Amino acid sequence: MSYSYVKNKLDSNGVIVLDGGIGGELEKIGAIMDKDLWCGKCSADNPDKLLKVHENYINAGVDVITTNTYATTPISMKEYGYENLTNELNKKSVEIAKQAVNNSDREIAVAGSVSTSGSWDKLEQSQLKPGFTKHLKILSDAGVDLIILEAMTAKNSTVETIIECSLQINLPIWLSISCALNKNDEKLMHGYQENIDNSKAKFYDDFAKSIQQFSSVHKGPILVAHSDIKVTKNAVKTIKENHKGIIGAYPNNGYFEKPKWKLVENISPTDYLNEAKSWVSNGAQIIGGCCGVGPDLIKAISSLK
Ligand SMILES: [Zn+2]
Repeated sequence: MSYSYVKNKLDSNGVIVLDGGIGGELEKIGAIMDKDLWCGKCSADNPDKLLKVHENYINAGVDVITTNTYATTPISMKEYGYENLTNELNKKSVEIAKQAVNNSDREIAVAGSVSTSGSWDKLEQSQLKPGFTKHLKILSDAGVDLIILEAMTAKNSTVETIIECSLQINLPIWLSISCALNKNDEKLMHGYQENIDNSKAKFYDDFAKSIQQFSSVHKGPILVAHSDIKVTKNAVKTIKENHKGIIGAYPNNGYFEKPKWKLVENISPTDYLNEAKSWVSNGAQIIGGCCGVGPDLIKAISSLK
């Protein structure tokens, strides 16, 4: 377990493959889903199933696996009454990811997932820092190889605060941003699309402007994530134009329709590979998948390494 393989590959213009979604895969194999934390409690409730999901991605050829800590941010844990489990669940998730890596004979890096899951946008700037800092510290102390500030779906000022907190951590930091198309003016926006017709989309700012803003403070990789496959190629181009560092992409396949992730138009491995080729040809060096993307699609794109 280390970051050196990933670093060498990225430094020599190679392609790194990241895993796909975790929650959907856990759901598929019958893990217990919490009504508020979704797959967040699986590290305690179904550790064997979580291990299996990580191992399936390793067998599919990934170089980096992500901890099941997207939903277990200190703010969301407090919001849903699980504050006393914050340390335990996050540590356990890192342990399980490390165990999956130790069971493999390849060099795989473990990325600690830090998100804006929870009502961050309702908090004052001064209240944000302790929550982000705590999450970063738990994951870093538990021994992750890198941090992904994942699928930032929050106001630009909130994202800037999380970036600021991440600069205090002595680990490589990747930043992933969610985007969606505003169908009224066909503009790509920093935000997210909640359903197929975009009627419940939430937009923050022009995507290019947001990337410029984040790139001025974050020099590590910037990826587009948790966004529709159809907008991903354009998002990759926009990031390339506005960020000098490494770039990447890991989109969604489907939509969240309460209470489950729904595969509305399921994409085939061949089509997903073709999409991924277009991201790579536009400069993406880190490719993977988010919600609804499983090991079959990841295996297809791992041929691009
Ligand atoms: Zn997603």
